[in-house]
Amino acid sequence: MRTPVIAGNWKMYKTVDQALDFLNTLRGRSEVNGVEQVLCASFVSLPTLIQATSGTEISIGAQNLHWEEEGAFTGEVSPTMLNDIDVSYVIIGHSERRTYFAETDEAVNKKTKSALGHDLIPIVCIGETLEEKEADRTQETVRDQVAQALDGLTSEEATRVILAYEPVWAIGTGKSATADDADDVIRFIRKAVSDQLDPQVAREMRILYGGSVKPGNIDSFLERQDIDGALVGGASLDPDSFAQLVNAAA
Ligand code: 13P
Repeated sequence: MRTPVIAGNWKMYKTVDQALDFLNTLRGRSEVNGVEQVLCASFVSLPTLIQATSGTEISIGAQNLHWEEEGAFTGEVSPTMLNDIDVSYVIIGHSERRTYFAETDEAVNKKTKSALGHDLIPIVCIGETLEEKEADRTQETVRDQVAQALDGLTSEEATRVILAYEPVWAIGTGKSATADDADDVIRFIRKAVSDQLDPQVAREMRILYGGSVKPGNIDSFLERQDIDGALVGGASLDPDSFAQLVNAAA
């Protein structure tokens, strides 16, 4: 049985005060069993959010990390620093990082290994661009991204990874994939994981859908057996809709 995950990716939104306001409004509305609830906030807000959610069902994640523990890497944050403030999850390889910050599959692999080595749960993002989709290269694209992200991981390590299938054309566009299409790709990804590692890993690994998920369409994704939850941008910024998404997964 895979525990569903509803993860909010706040991207570069919310000051510390705004993040606390969100939690105050959310309080009591997402108290459900059997759902992992994660809020991935800016580095600046993480310590405050971790303190404010201590003892609640909400976990806090970062949106990036460097793979080294320390060093001359101006502007970067290390896994050791995330451990120090008790961060639990970290998004890796989001399409915005791949597109705007030139993050490569090799970097995604190093970050994934580093996160796992520091007891952080990596939420690794993969997904095709519109161009790739139109050229009928969705499967090839996600298979390559998965192969490189998980390269060199043991089965035990890979089981701790959460994959998020986020078609780039569906992110922030209001135009989500259909549940049928998302389900097809996610089943394909599970098969690719099975071929690359082993069937047991593929059975246990959580794979989420992301891209214009909102309270009005979450059910269509969650009712699919292979879709284990969602990575949500815009709709996670509002406490009411985040609570609705969590409740839908319960
Ligand atoms: P939206 O939910 O705003 O489309 O963003 C998806 C996303 O990028 C989550 O990581």
